[in-house]
Amino acid sequence: AKYVFDFTEGNKELKDLLGGKGANLAEMTRLGLPVPPGFTISTEACREYLATGAVPEGLFDEVNRQLLHVEARMGRALGDPADPLLLSVRSGGKFSMPGMMDTVLDIGLTDASVAGLAQHYGGERFAWDSYRRLIQMFGKTVFGVPGEAFEEELAAHKVHAGVRIDTELTVADLRHLVAAYQKILQAHTGREFPQDPREQLHLAIRAVFTSWNSERATLYRRQERIPHTLGTAVNVMAMVFGNLGSDSGTGVAFTRDPATGAQGVYGDYLANAQGEDVVAGIRNTVPLQDLERLDKTSYDELMSIMATLEGHYRDLCDIEFTIERGKLWMLQTRVGKRTAAAAFIIASQLVDEGLIDLDEALQRVNGAQLAQLTFPRFDLSGEPEALAKGIAASPGAAYGKAVFDSARAAEVAAGGEPVILVRRETNPDDLPGMIAAQGILTSRGGKTSHAAVVARGMGKTCVCGADDLEVDTAGRKFTVDGRTVSEGDVISIDGTSGCVYLGEVPVRPSAVVRYFEGEVSPDDDALVAAVHRLVTHADEARRLRVRANADTGEDAARARRFGAEGIGLCRTEHMFLGDRRELVERLILARTDEERQAALDGLMPLQRADFVEIFQAMDGLPVTVRLIDPPLHEFLPALEDLAVRVAVAHERGEDAGKDEALLAAVRRMHEQNPMLGLRGVRLGLVIPGLFGMQVRAIAEAAAECARQGGTPRPEIMVPLVGAVQELETVRAEAERIIAEAGVSGIPIGTMIEVPRAALTADQIAEAAEFFSFGTNDLTQMGWGFSRDDVEGAFFPRYLELGIFGVSPFESIDRDGVGRLVRIAVDEGRTARPDLKIGVCGEHGGDPDSVHFFEDAGLDYVSCSPFRVPVARLEAGRASV
Ligand code: ADP
Ligand code: MG
Ligand code: MG
Repeated sequence: AKYVFDFTEGNKELKDLLGGKGANLAEMTRLGLPVPPGFTISTEACREYLATGAVPEGLFDEVNRQLLHVEARMGRALGDPADPLLLSVRSGGKFSMPGMMDTVLDIGLTDASVAGLAQHYGGERFAWDSYRRLIQMFGKTVFGVPGEAFEEELAAHKVHAGVRIDTELTVADLRHLVAAYQKILQAHTGREFPQDPREQLHLAIRAVFTSWNSERATLYRRQERIPHTLGTAVNVMAMVFGNLGSDSGTGVAFTRDPATGAQGVYGDYLANAQGEDVVAGIRNTVPLQDLERLDKTSYDELMSIMATLEGHYRDLCDIEFTIERGKLWMLQTRVGKRTAAAAFIIASQLVDEGLIDLDEALQRVNGAQLAQLTFPRFDLSGEPEALAKGIAASPGAAYGKAVFDSARAAEVAAGGEPVILVRRETNPDDLPGMIAAQGILTSRGGKTSHAAVVARGMGKTCVCGADDLEVDTAGRKFTVDGRTVSEGDVISIDGTSGCVYLGEVPVRPSAVVRYFEGEVSPDDDALVAAVHRLVTHADEARRLRVRANADTGEDAARARRFGAEGIGLCRTEHMFLGDRRELVERLILARTDEERQAALDGLMPLQRADFVEIFQAMDGLPVTVRLIDPPLHEFLPALEDLAVRVAVAHERGEDAGKDEALLAAVRRMHEQNPMLGLRGVRLGLVIPGLFGMQVRAIAEAAAECARQGGTPRPEIMVPLVGAVQELETVRAEAERIIAEAGVSGIPIGTMIEVPRAALTADQIAEAAEFFSFGTNDLTQMGWGFSRDDVEGAFFPRYLELGIFGVSPFESIDRDGVGRLVRIAVDEGRTARPDLKIGVCGEHGGDPDSVHFFEDAGLDYVSCSPFRVPVARLEAGRASV
C-alpha cells in the first residue's frame, strides 16, 4: 500500500486519508500558494500502527524516498552538518482537535549540525535557540519527559543570568541550556538525545501516531463525538523560520470575525517568533492590521491569499502563516470554527456574495446552533462566583428568589416576583410551581429526571443533580459549602453551564426568540435577518411537517407563533390537577357507579373548556389529544404524607375518614413498576367511563368551536396500546360517543410506544387512522431502561464504554428503537396506505433524530414549542 503522499498529490477532499491539515496543505499547494514542501503519512498507516504496535512494513523506506523530493526542492539535506534541512512533524486527524495531539519542530538538528545552521542560516543565537526548543519538544512528546523539568531549568537559568525574557538569553546561555536539557532527558529516560536525524524523524512520527490515544485526545473525541477509530495523519514539512529577526514573524488569522461574522481583518501577529510562541502567549501579539505597517508586501500578499481561500472554500477560513525574512509562507488553513450567531450570519452573507446558494447555506448551520440562539444568556462580565455546579439540563439563564415548594413558588410568582424552585427532585405535584418559576434547581436526578424533561418541554431553565446542595425543604433553605440560602434569597442558575450563583446575575434576552414571538423584525438585526432567511428557506424545502407538544391554549398559541403546523401531542394529565384533584379523588374512591359518574360529570365540563381554548388557539390545524396516560395514584397524595396526616388526626382525636380512605386506596393501588402498570389504555379499559368522559369533552368542545364559526380539527390518540383488541374496544365506545355528540370526522389513532405495538403494526393499523411514535416509552421499553433511574446510575459508564455515544433518550437509537419504528411504518402503511404517521417523543426536536424520521418516511415530528424552529430547520436540512 502507498502510505506517503507529497503535498502535490493530495487535495481537500482527501480528509479521511490525509487528515484535515494534510488535505488542506495539499489543496493550498495545488492552488499555487506558498507552502513549504512536505508530505503526509496517511491515517491508514496510523491505524495499522495502533492496531499492531509496529510501523507498517516499508513505511520508513517510503518516507525516506519522499524526503528526497523535499531535500531537492529546498536545496538542503537532512543531517547535512554544513547546511542542514530542518523539518516539522505535525499531527492532524480528519476532524480538527486543536492542541490535542503532538507537533515537533526543528527535527534534524544535532550537536554536529548546529554550527552549520548558525553559519548558513541565522547565526549562533538562532541555531542554539532552535536546538534548545527541539530537545524540549522532542523530550516531551517522544519520551514523555514532563515539560516542567525543562521550564524549571530555563527559569532557574534566567534568574542566574539575570534576564527577564527568553530573547535576552545570550549564545552562551543557550549553549548551557542545550547541555542541561540533554542531561534532563538523559536522567528521565536513560537515553541520549538521538544524534541521528533520521532516527529523530522516525521517533517523532511514532510519537504523533501514539498521541492519538493520549488521554486528553481521547477525552476530547468523546466530547465532540469523533470516532476513536479514525487515527491521525502525520505531516512532515520543511521548517521555515519566523524567529530570524524583525523582518520575520508568525501569525494566525480568520478571513472574517468568527464571533460575529463581520467582515474585516481578524488576526494576531508576533514579530521575530515561531508559531508556538503565539499560542503559548509568551509575548504580546499585535493586531494583524499592524503588519501592513511592518511589512506591506507580505501583508498585501496575505490579504490576497485570504481572499483566494475564502473564494475557493466558499466559507470562513482560519490560517497559520510565517514570514521568513520578508517571504510569506502558509502553514495551515481550514474552514474555521465559529459561534452559532456567526454561523447564521456568515451563511447568509455568502449567499449574498454569490458564493453559495440557499440550499448550501442550510447545510452550513444546524439546529443545535439555532437552539443555542434561543436561550437567554447571563452577562458574566462581572465574574460572579459560582456557589455550585449541577447538570446543565435545560439551557437558559434565570434568576429569582429561592423557594422550596410548589405552592409557595406559585404564591410568590403571583405577586410578580421571579422565583427559582429548589427541590431535591420534582414530581408531577410540582408542576404548578415549575410553571410559575423562572427556573428549576434540583440536587438529585440527571438529564432525563422529571425536572429536566418537563423544564425542557417548557423551554424553562433547569439545573439538576447539583449534589453539593443540601436541600432542607421543611426548613425552607439549602446549604452548600457551609453557606446557607434561605427562602427569599435571590439566586441565579445557568442552564447552559450548570452553574448556580448567589444573587442576581444580569441576563440578556435573546433577539431570536423575540423574533419568533413577533417582537423583533428581521430588518432590525443582522442575526435575526439571517435566521429568518434560513428558517424560511427550510420551510420551503422540507417535506416533514412540524407540530408541537402543547397542553394549554397559551402553549398552543406560542407554538403557532413559532411555526407549528398543529399539535402532535396534547397531554390531558394537567386537566386532572389543581383544584380538580378533589374530583379525581372522588373518582378513585367511588364505591358505586353513581358516585363514579358524579365525579366524571364534574370533570367533563372543565375538560371541555380546556379543549375549547386549545382548539381555538390551533384553529384550522390538527390537534392530537392523548387520552389520560399516567397511573391514577400519581394524582393522590404521597403515602408518607397521608400516613402522617392520619396519625396526627388520630392523636388529636379528629376525624380522618377521608384521609384514611385515600390511604387505603394508595396502599391498594401501589405498584412495583408503575411505568409498566395500570396506565394508558389499560386505565380506559378498567375504569368505566373515564376515557368516555374525555372523548365526550373533546367532541363537545369541537362542536362548540364549530358553532362559533371555527374549524376545530381534533384527533383522538390512545396511549400505550400493545394489542389491536385494546384499541378496538376503546374505539367502539369513542365512535358511539362522538356520534351522540353529533360530530363527525374525528380521526382515532394510537401511540406506538410498546414494542409489541410496533411488531404488530399491521393489525393495529386496521383500527388506527394514525400512528404517533412515543419514542420515550419505546426507548424505555425497547432497552428495558427505566428512564427515571438510569441516567445517573449507569449511563456515564455506558458512554465511557462506548455502548452508545449519546443517551438513547436524547437521540434516537437508530439500530434498535429505530428498527422498531421502520417496521411499524412499513407494516402500518401496507395495511392502511393513507395512515398518517408522526412522532411525539422528546426525539421529535432532536436534530439527529429529525433526520432519521425524515428518512423513515414519517409525515410529521412533534416537539415542545421552543424546539419547533429547530425542527423546522432540521427538517429542511434533511430535505436538501
Ligand atoms: P496545532 O494543530 O496544535 O496547531 P500545528 O501542527 O499546527 O499544531 O503546529 C504547531 C505550531 O508549529 C504552529 O503554530 C505552526 O505554525 C508551527 N509550525 C508547524 N510547522 C511549521 C513549519 N514547517 N515551519 C514553521 N513553523 C511551523
Ligand atoms: Mg495549527
Ligand atoms: Mg408514553
